Amino acid sequence: MQTVKVDLGDRSYPVYIGSNLLDNSSLLLPFIGNGRAVVVSNEIVAPLYLEQLKAQLGAQFSSAIILPDGEETKNLDTMASIYDHLLQGKYDRKTTLVALGGGVVGDITGFAAATYQRGVNFLQVPTTLLAQVDSSVGGKTGVNHSQGKNMIGAFYQPRCVVADTEVLQSLPEREIKAGLAEVIKYGLINDADFFAWLENNSDAILGLQSEVIAEAVQVCCEAKADIVTKDEKEAGMRALLNLGHTFGHAIESFFLAESNPISHGCAIAWGIQLELAYSALHFNQSIEGTEHALDFLRSAFPPIPHFAFEELMHHMRDDKKNRAQIILGVVLSEVAEAHFDIEYEVGQIKKIWEDGQHR
Ligand code: NAD
Ligand code: MG
Repeated sequence: MQTVKVDLGDRSYPVYIGSNLLDNSSLLLPFIGNGRAVVVSNEIVAPLYLEQLKAQLGAQFSSAIILPDGEETKNLDTMASIYDHLLQGKYDRKTTLVALGGGVVGDITGFAAATYQRGVNFLQVPTTLLAQVDSSVGGKTGVNHSQGKNMIGAFYQPRCVVADTEVLQSLPEREIKAGLAEVIKYGLINDADFFAWLENNSDAILGLQSEVIAEAVQVCCEAKADIVTKDEKEAGMRALLNLGHTFGHAIESFFLAESNPISHGCAIAWGIQLELAYSALHFNQSIEGTEHALDFLRSAFPPIPHFAFEELMHHMRDDKKNRAQIILGVVLSEVAEAHFDIEYEVGQIKKIWEDGQHR
């Protein structure tokens, strides 16, 4: 087992990474104390792993909330149903909420923990690759609003994260690919060695080879922990993590508004392709060394969808990463040389979107 520490003073916490950690009762229990534990999961994950988690929690386990699957669940109605459950069960401030699931369950549970009785204990047991490398670490929690993704939420750190790589074995391949898009992002923004390692190991990751997955999860968590430690609330360099998210979030929001949600990882895979194209235009040169990653992203994901440029702009402008309606994003001058808070120019965005070369 590897442990990555997220260093935030008295809110520091460990991220445990390894296989079969769900069977290890010494990991979560120390963070629960003498309160009751409520597991929040969904209808796909609970039948697979809830019993294992319950066994680990032993007498501290009190109840489980099983949500419907999918991004559509990430809304304020779901939050209300969680508060109802907690209030009806007379759960007090010593309660611990344990998120068992992917990023959707993690974001919802974290926000419930941040707000229930002004904040209760919160643990993350991420079960997708995306959640293990990204969403379970760093304390961004929240839900969507009909007018935008992740618009309601809080920064609220978990007390610990248990990333059991064994649970990824049941993930559909498209979800592994979705996680891999975020993994590639870490390599692109700040780690040329890791990026090179990934080029040789992406097949092993897709093939779910445990040691390779564990290594990837560890490197990504270390990178994220490092960035979050320096800039917890995204006043500056945490924005580096948004590579792929300027276009990606806009595309994701467009489909969410159409009631046809697509996976976050897929949107980010498209976003990375478009933003590397944007970077090349911005610096007037191709970004060396990214061809293999682009080939991978093109072959692993469906072609980038096309819809009206005005729709894209509408969703891009509404992104909370922007300031005063100026679109801010990340550009790459070379692998591991990323620049954040760069103004994305509308004319250039249009060129990339209409160009079709990325498709
Ligand atoms: P997800 O939670 O919807 O999970 C993807 C699918 O896999 C779902 O159908 C889920 O039920 C299923 N699943 C989960 N674990 C499984 C397992 N072990 N075996 C089989 N099936 C399993 O999606 P995700 O990609 O994990 O997360 C995406 C969400 O995370 C988005 O809402 C996004 O906004 C959010 N996110 C948050 C952060 C953050 O920092 N908080 C970062 C990135 C993404
Ligand atoms: Mg993301």
